[in-house]
Amino acid sequence: MDIKEWKDKLLYSQKNGWDRLPQEEEAPLEAYCTAYKAYLDAGKTERCCVKESIRQAEALGFRAYQRGEALKPGDKVYRNNRDKMLLLAVIGTAGMERGARITAAHIDSPRLDLKPNPLYEEAELGYLKTHYYGGIRKYQWVTIPLELRGVVALRDGQVVEVAIGEGEEPKLVINDLLPHLGAEQSKKTLAEGIGGEQLNILIGSRPMEGDDSERVKTQLLRLLYEKYGFTEEDFISAELEAVPAVNAVDIGLDRSMIGAYGHDDRVCAYAALKALFDMEKTPEKTAVCVLADKEEIGSDGVTGMQTAAFDTFMDDLCEALGTPLKTCLERSFCLSADVTAAYDPNFGDVYEKRNSARLGYGVGLCKYTGSRGKGGASDASAEVVAFARRVFDEAGALWQMAELGKVDAGGGGTVAKYMANRNIDTLDAGVPVLSMHAPFETVSKLDCYMTYKAMKAIYER
Ligand code: MN
Ligand code: MN
Repeated sequence: MDIKEWKDKLLYSQKNGWDRLPQEEEAPLEAYCTAYKAYLDAGKTERCCVKESIRQAEALGFRAYQRGEALKPGDKVYRNNRDKMLLLAVIGTAGMERGARITAAHIDSPRLDLKPNPLYEEAELGYLKTHYYGGIRKYQWVTIPLELRGVVALRDGQVVEVAIGEGEEPKLVINDLLPHLGAEQSKKTLAEGIGGEQLNILIGSRPMEGDDSERVKTQLLRLLYEKYGFTEEDFISAELEAVPAVNAVDIGLDRSMIGAYGHDDRVCAYAALKALFDMEKTPEKTAVCVLADKEEIGSDGVTGMQTAAFDTFMDDLCEALGTPLKTCLERSFCLSADVTAAYDPNFGDVYEKRNSARLGYGVGLCKYTGSRGKGGASDASAEVVAFARRVFDEAGALWQMAELGKVDAGGGGTVAKYMANRNIDTLDAGVPVLSMHAPFETVSKLDCYMTYKAMKAIYER
């Protein structure tokens, strides 16, 4: 062999995905990203995501599955877990006997939840108190337009959907100090500059007629009652989430990226969902797509990835198809589809260049996550990684190998370990993100599309 041949054979080098993108995939990539942006705009909370996903699934023939119903290959079913988690499956020709091909993503994103007693008036301004959800950098959430989404459950059991700030509606905002008076604040660290109890949302300033006290607050309660029919006490049984009032847009003169709120992890959720929808024929192994809630706060609770609702759904499918659940799980494969950090040259010192995901290099595979010496990682086995490499290469899904950052810089984890703990071979894979957990995150269109191709390959091959 000459030197070039030796080099090509022996050296591992990742290459920019745009150089490797076949001409005929340009149009499908753009079409995919357009549909993804619409999904983001419709799905700014986990409840909105579940609703939009079910709408799309039902249009393609998926039906809500009830325990005990007979199943046959090709059946498309879903289960809505409390409007916040969604499980979907396409029954394979081999039923559950040979295991399932699972993708698990999450549809909750960092945001500001309203406290149970949120509304107050001070200095004739109306405010809502919040308790942030997930790992946010608090200073990023001030002076940006916000909208309020969620539900208020009334005492009589009726559930009212709330969407304040949607479309042309007025927005809400959290204010910050002007630089002229910010000298003391500026001496604080980024983490302390804006405190959790300062994340109070400005919601009104015009008093109601009369000479009572708290006239701004009363006016706001009147407006809420007129529009939604709930009173101050009803905030107690509500889930209202303040999210950035910004829709997804293209970023860059070359339109190579997408900026939006909630890429983490709807960018993988949409890839997992769309790939399930787009399978060309009935797969051999049953394809399962899990869109989970509560990942950002530890995957606990009835709608988080640790919930028995997943096992129950799988067991229901297994029973209908005559396979013991444990047999199915031990033969299954799961792609834990969550975003990873993209290398950011502006903050190069927290990344390890040789093992960081790069924007535009394809779906990022993480053998392990965790922090302080892989702590809390499920650490996929070598065989599992080799399997994924092969499947993705055969399907033309461009991929890259990644770690979250420098060994001692910090770390993170996702739902992978909760799947692996169930005796399912699991590998982390997802889209590299810039400014992860910020109100406005950036991803590469190429990586979005390649993640979709990767999910599809896992279901089909
Ligand atoms: Mn995530
Ligand atoms: Mn996250």
